[in-house]
Amino acid sequence: MKNPLLQQQGLPAFSQIKAEHVEPAIDTLLEQNRQAIAELIEKTATPDWDNFVAPLEALHDRLSRAWSPVSHMNSVVNNDALREAYNSCLSKLSAYHTELGQHKGLYEHFNQIANSEQFKQYNAAQQKAITNALRDFRLSGIELDEAQQQRYKDIRQQLSSLKSKFSENVLDATQAWTLDIEDESRLSGLPESARAMAKQAATAAEVDGWRFTLEFPSYFAVITYADDAALREQIYEAFATRASEQGPNAGQWDNTDLIKQILALRHESAQLLGFNNYAEESLATKMAETPQQVLDFLNDLADKGKPYAEKDLTEVQAYAREHHAIDTLNAWDIPYYSEKLREHRYSISQEDLKPYFPEDKVVQGMFDVVERLYGIRISEQHDIDTWHDDVRFFDIRDRNGELRGQFYLDLYARANKRGGAWMDECIVRRRTEASLQTPVAYLTCNFSAPVDNDHALFTHNEVETLFHEFGHGLHHMLTLVDSASVSGINGVPWDAVELPSQFMENWCWQKESLQLFARHYQSDEPLPDTLFERMLAAKNFQSGMQLVRQLEFALFDFRLHHEYDPAQPCNVGALIDEVREQVAVIKPPAYHRFANSFSHIFAGGYAAGYYSYKWAEVLSSDAFAEFEEHGIFDADTGQRFLAAILEQGGSRDAMDLFIEFRGRPPTVDALLRHSGIAA
Ligand code: ZN
Repeated sequence: MKNPLLQQQGLPAFSQIKAEHVEPAIDTLLEQNRQAIAELIEKTATPDWDNFVAPLEALHDRLSRAWSPVSHMNSVVNNDALREAYNSCLSKLSAYHTELGQHKGLYEHFNQIANSEQFKQYNAAQQKAITNALRDFRLSGIELDEAQQQRYKDIRQQLSSLKSKFSENVLDATQAWTLDIEDESRLSGLPESARAMAKQAATAAEVDGWRFTLEFPSYFAVITYADDAALREQIYEAFATRASEQGPNAGQWDNTDLIKQILALRHESAQLLGFNNYAEESLATKMAETPQQVLDFLNDLADKGKPYAEKDLTEVQAYAREHHAIDTLNAWDIPYYSEKLREHRYSISQEDLKPYFPEDKVVQGMFDVVERLYGIRISEQHDIDTWHDDVRFFDIRDRNGELRGQFYLDLYARANKRGGAWMDECIVRRRTEASLQTPVAYLTCNFSAPVDNDHALFTHNEVETLFHEFGHGLHHMLTLVDSASVSGINGVPWDAVELPSQFMENWCWQKESLQLFARHYQSDEPLPDTLFERMLAAKNFQSGMQLVRQLEFALFDFRLHHEYDPAQPCNVGALIDEVREQVAVIKPPAYHRFANSFSHIFAGGYAAGYYSYKWAEVLSSDAFAEFEEHGIFDADTGQRFLAAILEQGGSRDAMDLFIEFRGRPPTVDALLRHSGIAA
C-alpha cells in the first residue's frame, strides 16, 4: 500500500496516516533531499532563483508537507505508537537542519546569487528570502575559520547542556518542596478547587490532610487566597528561592553558577560571530534594530507607567488599612489583598459572562468581523478528511471568489490532546511554475465541549483566545507572498509576529463588535451594559503594577546581556537591585532570587528578547488605534491593514510595513490608553 505521507497532492489524508508510515516516509524524504541537494549544487554553476532557490524550496516544502500532519496529530490525537515514531524522527530532522545550516555549498550558492546582477531584478520577497538565508548561515557560524568553528560548536553544545541543567534544577527544586497541612482551619480562604487539588496531592503521596507544592496552580492559590499570612509567607519564600543558595532548600540545585557560565558563553559566541555582545546577536533576527532602541523603548514605558503602578500600590495599601486594619503590606500580602480589592470592586466572574458567548454566535461573529474588515468570505466545507469528528473545515475566498486559504478548526478539549491554544501551518503558500499552492492552517483550542447536545458556552477568556489564534491564522492564510520562506508568518521577526494576533483581540473588548456576537444563548439578549462596563474595568485592574513587573523582567534580561563584560562579570543581584530601583514599586525581601528560576531567558529562547512581549503589544495597540480613529469596522482601514501587514508576511522589513500602515513609527500611547494608563 502507498504511504499517504509521500503523496503531496491536496490536503493530507489524516484518516489514513498510521504510526508505521511516519519513519519510512521521513527516512525516504531525508535521503532523497540530501541527494537532490547535492545534485542541485553540483549542476548549477551559475545559480539563480529558478534553477536553484525554487527547486530547493520545493524540497523543503515536500518535507514539511509530510511532517506537518504527523506533528499535528502527535499533538491532538496522541497515542504511544505515534509518539514513538514522532520522537525518533525529531532527532533525524534536527540533524538534517543543522547539516543544512552549516552547508558550505548551499551558502556559497546563495552568496553567488546575492552578488549577481540578476539579484536586483528579483522582487522584494525573493530578495528577502535570499538575504534571510545568508543571515541564518552567518548566525550558525559558517564564515568562521576552522578553529573558531570548532570553538563555536563546543560553545553551542555546552550552552545546550547548561540550559537543560538549568531547567532540570528549577524542576527538581520545584518538586522537592511540599507542605502538608492537617489542620483544616489553616486552609481558610482557599477556593474549593484549590482544596480539592491539595487533597488529591496528599492522597497520591499517601499522607493525611492537604499537600501544597510549588507547582504554579498550588502556589498561586495559596498566595492569592489563603487568609493565613504565615502560610503565604512560607510558600512565598520557598517559591522565591528555588534553585538558589537561599531558602528552605538552600544550596541544592543552585543555578547561580550556571547563570555565570551561560552568560560568559553567550558573550563569547556573540563575539565570535562579530557582535559586541549577545544582545546585538539577539536583535540580528528581530524587528528592533539596536540595543539602544530597545532600552529607550523600555525606559520610556517605565517612566510613563511607574506613577500608575505607585497609584495601584497605594490603592491596595489603603484598602488593606481601611477594610482589614493592616498597616504594612509585605510582598506575600500584595496578591492576597489585591484579589480582595478586585472582588470588592468588580464582582465579576467568567461564569457570569458565559451565557452571552455561545459557540455558534461567537464563531460566526468572528467571521463577520473579518469579512467586514477585509472583504473576504468564509464558508464551511463538509466531507473533508480530518483527525477527529469534532473538527470543522473552512474556505476563505476573496471578493472575486478566488480561494485564499483554508483552515481546520478543532475547538474542544479531549483526551490525548495537548493543552492550550495555537495556530500552526499545514500547508504554506508558494507559487511554482505549474501552479499556486494556497495556504492551510490548523486552529486548535481546548474549550469545554457542549454537554448533552446543548450549546457550548465560552468564557470571555476563551473568546479572546479564539480571536488571538485566528489572527495568527489570517496572517498565515491571507498572505499574497509567493516564496514559502517569507510567506505568511514565515520570516516574520519574533517581536512582530504577535501583532496580527493581539490585534484581533481588540474586537473582543469593543461594544460595537460585542453586539454582533455577545448574545444570550437562550434569550438572544445582548450583553448588558453593566456587565460590559465591569468587564472592562476588571481588565485594567492594577495594569500599572503589571506593566512595571513585565518591564522589570525585560530590562533585567536585556541589560544583563547587553552590559556583559568578561573582565568584570556582572553581579546579577546588583543589576536586579538597580533595575528595581528604577521601575519596581514592590521591593521583595533580600533572600529573593528570581533570576535563579528565570527559565525564559536561561533555559528558553527569550534571552535578550523578553522585551518582545511588550514590543508586540505596542504594535498591536497602535495598529488598532488607527481603527479607533476611523471606525472599528471601517473597510478602507481594514483594506490598508490587509495590504500592508497581513498580505506581506515576512517579505519586507517589519518596521517599514508598520509605517506603511500607520503613517509613522509605533508609539506607546495607545497601549497605555488601552491599559487604562493615560498620560
Ligand atoms: Zn500568539
